[in-house]
Amino acid sequence: MPEAAEARTAVGIKALGQDELLWLVESLDQPAYRANQLVRWLYGRRATSFDEMTDLPVKLRETLEERFAIPRPTLVERQVSEVDETRKYLWRLADGVEVESVGLPANGRLTVCFSTQAGCAMRCSFCATGRSGFVRDLFCGEMTDQVALVGEDFGTRVSNAVAMGQGEPFANYDAVLEGLRIMNSPLGLGIGARHLTVSTCGLTSGIRRFADEPEQFTLAVSLHSAVQATRDHLMPGVRAVALPVLRRSLDDYALKTGRRPTLEYALIDGVNDTDEELEALVGFCRGLLCHVNLIPANPVPGTGVTRATAERVREFERVLDRSWIETSVREERGTDIDAACGQLRQRRVAD
Ligand code: SF4
Repeated sequence: MPEAAEARTAVGIKALGQDELLWLVESLDQPAYRANQLVRWLYGRRATSFDEMTDLPVKLRETLEERFAIPRPTLVERQVSEVDETRKYLWRLADGVEVESVGLPANGRLTVCFSTQAGCAMRCSFCATGRSGFVRDLFCGEMTDQVALVGEDFGTRVSNAVAMGQGEPFANYDAVLEGLRIMNSPLGLGIGARHLTVSTCGLTSGIRRFADEPEQFTLAVSLHSAVQATRDHLMPGVRAVALPVLRRSLDDYALKTGRRPTLEYALIDGVNDTDEELEALVGFCRGLLCHVNLIPANPVPGTGVTRATAERVREFERVLDRSWIETSVREERGTDIDAACGQLRQRRVAD
C-alpha cells in the first residue's frame, strides 16, 4: 500500500478508496475480490466491526482488526425544519472535527447534501462556511457515511447526493471521486451516477479532469456573476479564474461529455441582480449547453447579503427564457434551520 494511504489509516479503514483497499488485500496475500467484500460490508451493509464480516477468513479479520478502526460519524445535533421536512445534521468525525449535511425529502425521493471538507478556504462573501475558515479535507468514507446515515435517519434509500455542503469539492478531488464511486457502486450505496452531483465554485483544472471521468456524474458550477469584478468580490477564492477561461472549460466539458452543466446563480439585491449583470449572464450562457439555476440568496448574518426581490428573480427568469437559455428557480428549503445554500457552518442551536 502506498505510504500516503498507510498514513491515513490512522483515521480508520474508511479513509481508503477502492483501489487502496485492493492494494491492502493484495499486500495481505488475499485475492482481489476481498476488496469488493470489504466495500460491501463497510458501506452496503454498514458493518461496525470486522467480526461481522463472516465471509472473510478469520485470520484476515484479526489482522484488519489490529490495524484499523471502523469509524462512524456520531450525531451531535439534528434539526428538523418546521416549514418543510428538511433535516440538518451536525456530525463529529473520528478526530473530533465536525461537519454538516442536509437531507431534503421531496416526492418520495431523498436528496442528501454532503460536505467534502470541514470548513472551506474559498471565502465566498455570501457563505457562512467560507467565513469560518478551512479545517481539513474529508476522506471518501466520511463523505459516504454522511449520505448513508442521513438515509438511515429517514429510513429510506437515498436517491440523489450532492457535494454542495461545506467545502470546495475540487480542492479535495481524489477523495471526492472515491466517495462518489463508493456511493455509485452497487456494493456501496447504489446511487445512479447521474444522481450524484459535484458543485464547484469553478476550479477549471477540476472541471477538465471531471470531464474525463468515465462515470456520468453531474456537474454544477457556482457562477453567481458573469461580470469579473463582481465575481471576484463575491468569490475571492477563484479570483485567478478568468471568466473566459471558465467559459471555455465548460464548453469543453459539454462537448466532451454531451452533458449539460448547471450554473448556480444566487441573486443578491443590488450586487448581481442589476440589468448589467443580467446582460452579462445572458452573454456568458449564449451558445453554451447549460442550465441556469436561479437561487434567491439566503440570509446569512454578518454578510450583509440581502435577497433580491421576487420581481428581479422573475425578470432574470423571463429574460433568460426569452434568450432560449434553460432556467429554473430553486425552491427554498430549510431556511428556518440555516440548512439552505450558504448557511452551513458547524453552528449549533445553542451557539
Ligand atoms: S460557497 Fe462553497 S466554495 Fe464558497 S466558501 Fe461556501 S462552501 Fe466554500
